[in-house]
Amino acid sequence: MRRYYDDSYVMQFTAQVIERTQAGGHPAVVLDQTYFYPTSGGQPNDTGMVNDVPVIDVISREGDGAVVHVLAGELADDTVNAEVNWARRFDHMQHHTGQHILSQAFIQVAEASTVGFHMSADSLTIDLDKLNLLPETINRVEDLANEIVCADRPVTAKIISLNEAANIRMRKLPEKIHTDGLRVVDIDGFDLTACGGTHVRRTGEIGLIKVLRTEKRGDKTRVEFRCGARALEVFRSQNALVNQLTALLTCKAEEVSPAIMRMQEDVKAAQRDLKAAKSLSLDAEVASLIAATPAVNDLRIVSKVFADRDAGDVRLIASKLVQTSGVIALLGVPGEKAQLIFARSEGVPQDMNVLVKSALASINGRGGGTPAMAQGGGVPATTEQIGAAVDAARRLLQ
Ligand SMILES: [Zn+2]
Repeated sequence: MRRYYDDSYVMQFTAQVIERTQAGGHPAVVLDQTYFYPTSGGQPNDTGMVNDVPVIDVISREGDGAVVHVLAGELADDTVNAEVNWARRFDHMQHHTGQHILSQAFIQVAEASTVGFHMSADSLTIDLDKLNLLPETINRVEDLANEIVCADRPVTAKIISLNEAANIRMRKLPEKIHTDGLRVVDIDGFDLTACGGTHVRRTGEIGLIKVLRTEKRGDKTRVEFRCGARALEVFRSQNALVNQLTALLTCKAEEVSPAIMRMQEDVKAAQRDLKAAKSLSLDAEVASLIAATPAVNDLRIVSKVFADRDAGDVRLIASKLVQTSGVIALLGVPGEKAQLIFARSEGVPQDMNVLVKSALASINGRGGGTPAMAQGGGVPATTEQIGAAVDAARRLLQ
């Protein structure tokens, strides 16, 4: 017997074991009566204790609908003193009742019907059959929902026959029922819906109802929301975050976004300036390398090992060097992932791909490229090893 239908507030009860079974490798029992809620209708299961054994899951069994209490260990006695975890259950009651109010408020304000409901430890959502809800609309929905909370309206549940049900206007019919008739939950003068879940007895117990965000899901809108203590938790952590940001940026809360946008602009401008300055300094470095290398038979072989330089910068130096005609650049970067970067100007006949492969063999590196530009490495090599590889390549050219 599912006693939570009659009273959501009973947390302690005695019962008799009427069946012992197994579920997911754990011992499990069916009781002659229970206030434990099994996972169903979007509401997660209760947890708690039977005698001294923790109840880790509660399942509504396919077929006969028996409520199966999954246990952490063996239960010795057939007579049990049971206790439902109140904090977890009350959170479910607040959110389930809050969901009814929110769903009705979305109908009244936005003509949006709820087609899905999900509740878990880290997420609470409803899915609406409507897209593109404006922030102002969400605000009006929240205002209406919280008015109903403040009015502290009674919430009642009763079983009615299917014939009676046909004559009253209800928000939603249930997928599956475990009572003789239909269980309807009535939020006085506001919402009437078929539901098998657990609810608070007055709307005031829900506390604040707050929508956190909406998200497009195919042709539906997913609405993330929180009620009561969980809404307070969100407010607390987000308020702490805003306080941190205003302290870091020394501004008021409403100035945080413009301040961050200004910083992003500043960073972009600084990056542009840095790139330009770097290019100028590389140009000067390249010019001095060319000037310091005498041409032999119209060919300048610029060879150099760059310790503590970024391989990307050295690659840029190589490509700048060969913009001057008659240049071969044999450059190396030692380190954990050493690099050899060889390049030549247009019109110079030597093949850099062949040359870099023979040089890489001496450091056991791999790589390649085109006859005009080739590179490789990726293995650890010292300044001396890279210097020797560059010198060997230079000798091959002469
Ligand atoms: Zn409900």
